[in-house]
Amino acid sequence: MTDFDAHAHPGASTENAFIATASSDEAGKLTGYRYKALGAIPEGREHSLRNLENAAEAGFHIGEIGIDSRYPDMEGQMAFFRDALTIAKDYDKIAVIHTVRAYELTYKTLRTSGISRFIMHGYTGSYEMAKQFISLGGMISIGRRAMRAKSFSKLITLPFLTESDMPAGYEQEMEIRNWNRELSELLGKDISERTWEMLSEWL
Ligand SMILES: [Zn+2]
Repeated sequence: MTDFDAHAHPGASTENAFIATASSDEAGKLTGYRYKALGAIPEGREHSLRNLENAAEAGFHIGEIGIDSRYPDMEGQMAFFRDALTIAKDYDKIAVIHTVRAYELTYKTLRTSGISRFIMHGYTGSYEMAKQFISLGGMISIGRRAMRAKSFSKLITLPFLTESDMPAGYEQEMEIRNWNRELSELLGKDISERTWEMLSEWL
């Protein structure tokens, strides 16, 4: 089995990646993918709850959604995030979470929402925080940037998914394969099939 990528973006066609978007007007780019989520994050262009709801109704998962403290209007971001989580929960879909320097706030929002199927994509937070997300029922997903996190050596002792965060295609496939290989060497066990093993029951 090919290594499964827990988080990639629209590009070439693939069944071996969970494809997400940053903007809610990108539903058209998701046509043809088997595992897909429509989202809207602060740096994305279009934020439409209606688009997310239509996507959920059509069977898509929801994401990327989340909070980014580098961007203005935290109140507005929070309100949108809460509503988007409600859609994911109501339609029994996975929420793909993108959060920057707002892990505590994200944690509280997730806990209040009552959602249990969510993925902390591109996780670079602390080990303790990761355990809290996992205790809510969520999964953490790490890309190469996690290597720069202080928590990295402890983080990889937890169950985690791996991701490229790249547009689907040849480079993305190489990236996820190499990243899994490096982690497998560090851990002294082969984790290249673990992302699929963990995610397949949710997808
Ligand atoms: Zn992404």
